[in-house]
Amino acid sequence: MSIEIKKAILDKIKEYNKIFLFRHIRNDGDCVGATKGLKEIITATWPEKSVYIIDTELAKYLEFMGPEDDEVDDTEYAEALGIVLDTASEARISNPKYKLCKELIKIDHHIPLEAYGDIIWVEEERSSCCEMVVDFYMSFKDTLVLNNDAATHLYTGMVTDSGRFKYDGVTGDTLRCAAELLDVGVKTDILFARLYLEAFEYLKFKAHIYNRMQITENGVAYIYIDRAMQEEFNLSLEQASACIGNLDSIRGCIAWIAFIETGDEKNTIRVRLRSRFCHINGVAENHNGGGHACASGATVYSKEEVEQLLKEADEVVRDYKANNEDWL
Ligand code: AMP
Repeated sequence: MSIEIKKAILDKIKEYNKIFLFRHIRNDGDCVGATKGLKEIITATWPEKSVYIIDTELAKYLEFMGPEDDEVDDTEYAEALGIVLDTASEARISNPKYKLCKELIKIDHHIPLEAYGDIIWVEEERSSCCEMVVDFYMSFKDTLVLNNDAATHLYTGMVTDSGRFKYDGVTGDTLRCAAELLDVGVKTDILFARLYLEAFEYLKFKAHIYNRMQITENGVAYIYIDRAMQEEFNLSLEQASACIGNLDSIRGCIAWIAFIETGDEKNTIRVRLRSRFCHINGVAENHNGGGHACASGATVYSKEEVEQLLKEADEVVRDYKANNEDWL
């Protein structure tokens, strides 16, 4: 039962004076919000505890959430508890020093690819990992303190990972958790402006995407973003990758994919896969990836593999449309 697992996690947090929080590579609002939100809850509840988030990357659009902690000596990890949030497999944990921690806890909402850690709490039906952290807080409300900073971090993750509460994974529990945060006084107008206003130049890139996107035979919308396009619009990899959101509202396209050339020496092409109704994670898993049923990531290394992945996605859509009604 999840309450017993949550109780075991609470006991471990109580037991340790030093705690390191970890998240996944290519960070997003959910993993950053979950680490920062949990850190705030722990330090507001037990000011004597030292809680660290040590990472070398923080997505530009999330810098408003505040800086990371300075690196500490490796020996500090040895007597600490590590908590990894929002990360399905060890290979995706961004700071490899999680291995140095005395004990490790995994809290995640992805389809489990791998069991790691001494305590594992996975609820894949949760719309975000932040939702799990809020649920954890709500389970022990008499003990834990939720301040405005914690609520804002957690709300950021809930909003971004649920597509502003639009995706299928949003449940009554999601909104009950969000309500708990709003009660603390999250300033949603400022948060939404920080997250979603777009630069004038970025809109030009969007126009370019709409001109270039294509559709496979059965209805997979896709866009290939090469290095030249990124240079033409002066985009970081992260900005270029955000284009996946622009393909999500095409009638008849129940899956959509963005391929982004990273420009590294291995010619790595980042793949972002999204779908509604049908499940796209199987395709991602065939290509060095994984994630959620309707939101996954993968990596390919050639144009041939791009074609192969598109063929597989097209088959998923074809089969879904042949066997189901009510998709649009
Ligand atoms: P992205 O398109 O990178 O935002 O990924 C969508 C979702 O899939 C996120 O929840 C990621 O954490 C997850 N994901 C991305 N890449 C991988 C991967 N290689 N293995 C497992 N999960 C992944």
